[in-house]
Amino acid sequence: MHMSKEIALKWIGEHESRIIEVSNKIWEFAELGLQEFKSSSLLANELEAAGFAVQRGVAGMPTAFVASYGSGKPVIGIMGEYDALQGLSQKPVPRKDPLTPGAPGHGCGHNIHGTSGMAAAIAAKTVMQVNGIKGTVKFFGCPAEESFSGKVFMVRDGIFKGVDTVLSHHPGAMNTASLKSSNANNSVKFHFHGIASHAAASPEEGRSALDAIELMNIGANYLREHIPQEARLHYVVEAGGGQPNVVPAYARSWYLIRAPEREQVERIYNRVLDIAKGAALMTGTSNEVEFIKGIYNKIPNRALAELVVSNMREIGAPEYTYEERRLAQEIGKTIPREQKIEHLKKSKRPDWEKLIDVSLDESITDPWGEGDVNPSSTDVSDVSWQAPTMEFETTAWVLGTPEHSWQNTAQAGMSVGHKSLIFATKVMAASLIDLLTRPDLLEKAHEEFMNRLQGRVYVPPIPPDLKPPLDMWKK
Ligand SMILES: [Zn+2]
Repeated sequence: MHMSKEIALKWIGEHESRIIEVSNKIWEFAELGLQEFKSSSLLANELEAAGFAVQRGVAGMPTAFVASYGSGKPVIGIMGEYDALQGLSQKPVPRKDPLTPGAPGHGCGHNIHGTSGMAAAIAAKTVMQVNGIKGTVKFFGCPAEESFSGKVFMVRDGIFKGVDTVLSHHPGAMNTASLKSSNANNSVKFHFHGIASHAAASPEEGRSALDAIELMNIGANYLREHIPQEARLHYVVEAGGGQPNVVPAYARSWYLIRAPEREQVERIYNRVLDIAKGAALMTGTSNEVEFIKGIYNKIPNRALAELVVSNMREIGAPEYTYEERRLAQEIGKTIPREQKIEHLKKSKRPDWEKLIDVSLDESITDPWGEGDVNPSSTDVSDVSWQAPTMEFETTAWVLGTPEHSWQNTAQAGMSVGHKSLIFATKVMAASLIDLLTRPDLLEKAHEEFMNRLQGRVYVPPIPPDLKPPLDMWKK
């Protein structure tokens, strides 16, 4: 192994208990998007103490920050997230048992990947210092991935300008770097205003905002026939009136519109806007559109994926103890077999059939999934339009674990999660060193990036004056 990487791995080995401690603290904080005050300052403070220059509260979000070390080119970015999910509080045990019933929990393991990126940045900095490596390492503390897509605001406000390439990590059920894209997305609320009246005594005087909501949903459901197969349209009714004997003067729905390409989302979105107008016209109400967020589809990068996977192989996947395997099997028992098979099949991972009876995936898989689109969306995508970007995955939970579940929260706080964290930190640090010291790798990643863009230009999917919804949880 390259000397520089040896130094980085040694640093990580020596600081393992502190790295795990940081991840566990964030796991316990379990703060929702844009409220991650304790989690983001914990990470920012660690970086600052290690000699990084930290800029807090970037892009109008108190919990977003950038930590930089070094100067000049190349500029290698690392992203970390730290937001939790509502209602997923859970103890680190293999049965459903909330720590605080109803409270948020790290059901997507974001306590792990904020920490892996932070620690890898510091390990890389240590090597830069010892070996006199030139360039800049920038850690981007990215809030609210799950809710308000903090990175989209950061991209719009130029926070990622000048970055040559970006690495990110996410705990998962495999050790791999996927080449899948992801759906672009718009999130939007529709407010309808009508006129209240006695629903029995004088219904003719009322104009029902709820009728508008219902008619709009019918229109949207008819639209489904005329949108691309892979597109997704989903909504909830957030407000639909108070009591049945009052014609509802106000009603509100929340829509998500997703499709494999940004342009497709724009087209479907415009039709949904027309449907809302039509519903207002039919019911004699008025409608108001509140744009919450938009995100792009992801641009994968094979050169970076291959780099990450080769570092995984050089370092070697974690080995598990008898106790870790036993706990993994316990968790495995809570996941129905058919559900696990469906999960594996949908992943389209080569040879997924061989994993049906496997609990922890200890293998390292070649990048796969080129041309495939993940139906969910992530704000990592918006960064992937700015510079070659790669988000890799390390085994933190048993195969078949549903996303955003109590099983996820549990495992993100258990020792298999810790091993995923340390492995990812090492892989990230080694890849950072490669990117800092091998201009050929950067060039290859960049050439591929330009090819995949095909001249398409990124236009921020959110309006220039849209502010991050800092008080959204209070609504
Ligand atoms: Zn996540």
